[in-house]
Amino acid sequence: MSALNSSSLHYPQEVAAVAACLQNHQGPIVVLAHENPDGDALGSVLGLSRALRAIGKSVIAPMEVPHYLRFVVEPGEIVSPLSEWPTDALVAVLDVDNNDPARVAGADLTTFSGTVVNVDHHGTNLRRADAGVVDPSRPAATMIVADVIDALGVPWTEALATPLMLGLNTDTGNFAFESVTPETFECAARLRAHGARIGWLTEQLRQKPRSYFLLLQEVLGTLEFLWDGQVVLARVDDVMLARAGASWEDVESYVGLLRNAEGSRLAVMIKDFGDRVKVSLRSSGGLSAQNIAVALGGGGHVPAAGATLSESYVEARCKINQAITAELLRASSSTPA
Ligand code: 5GP
Ligand code: MN
Repeated sequence: MSALNSSSLHYPQEVAAVAACLQNHQGPIVVLAHENPDGDALGSVLGLSRALRAIGKSVIAPMEVPHYLRFVVEPGEIVSPLSEWPTDALVAVLDVDNNDPARVAGADLTTFSGTVVNVDHHGTNLRRADAGVVDPSRPAATMIVADVIDALGVPWTEALATPLMLGLNTDTGNFAFESVTPETFECAARLRAHGARIGWLTEQLRQKPRSYFLLLQEVLGTLEFLWDGQVVLARVDDVMLARAGASWEDVESYVGLLRNAEGSRLAVMIKDFGDRVKVSLRSSGGLSAQNIAVALGGGGHVPAAGATLSESYVEARCKINQAITAELLRASSSTPA
């Protein structure tokens, strides 16, 4: 897999095509996002689902919503993962590549034969959908969903604006990342003008359960400073989780803490599931987390990416070390990523 990280050349046309496809479909629309959904995945699904329902579409939005994001979901609007496809369905896949069915959650895309539309912002997206808009220059997928909603002509309400703002907040680190563009602020201004409850979102997201802190204590015990502190790595497994009374979702923001280590250019958080590991990568200073993730069979953005390896921690760790070394060498011998 390779990455195409530049902005989409035909963005308005692609947005219009996605909107037309959704608008013209008469059957149910199933809205899906990536496994282990984050604020951008859930915000995209809620924003598009609510907009489509407002224009009379039948929408099914299956997702396992993590506890820390449930505050934004209204009763009944998200359902459990589907075991079979409804008749005449169209699928909208958001914030993840529809060509990577193992990453698409909520239903098994490998058994679906109807129309698939895709809205995503990952450079590693293969860009093969019946209608799709993939724009890596937009730091949150909800920015693209906002444009699709405009193209659908749905009147703006706070209920549409707030979940889209959730995606912007979380994928930009509260508008703090280098990925933030003037258009990001323009979109945020638009959503705020439509009533997006930014203070409420921030207050809800700020709260961490006790298990978050107890697990952090465990995880910090595994901390490694490698390559003279340029690489900061930690590991978590289910034994630590059990000791802390925590769940896997408590781990999500740890990689963001690791990247704050002074002098670090790469933060690596490894979830050790026993027979497989999930790696979360965050990079800066000319390093590409995306390159490392791609070398490990995963993908994502240049500064934030991930991969799953179907092997034990010990075996996976060898490959992870090799991929990190290769990226450090590449960066030291070339222009910035
Ligand atoms: P996280 O580390 O928070 O799970 O993911 C960081 C970014 O990389 C997100 O944009 C996420 O969608 C993407 N990502 C994480 N894991 C994978 C993976 O296994 N494959 C691909 N293609 N993208 C991933
Ligand atoms: Mn996203």
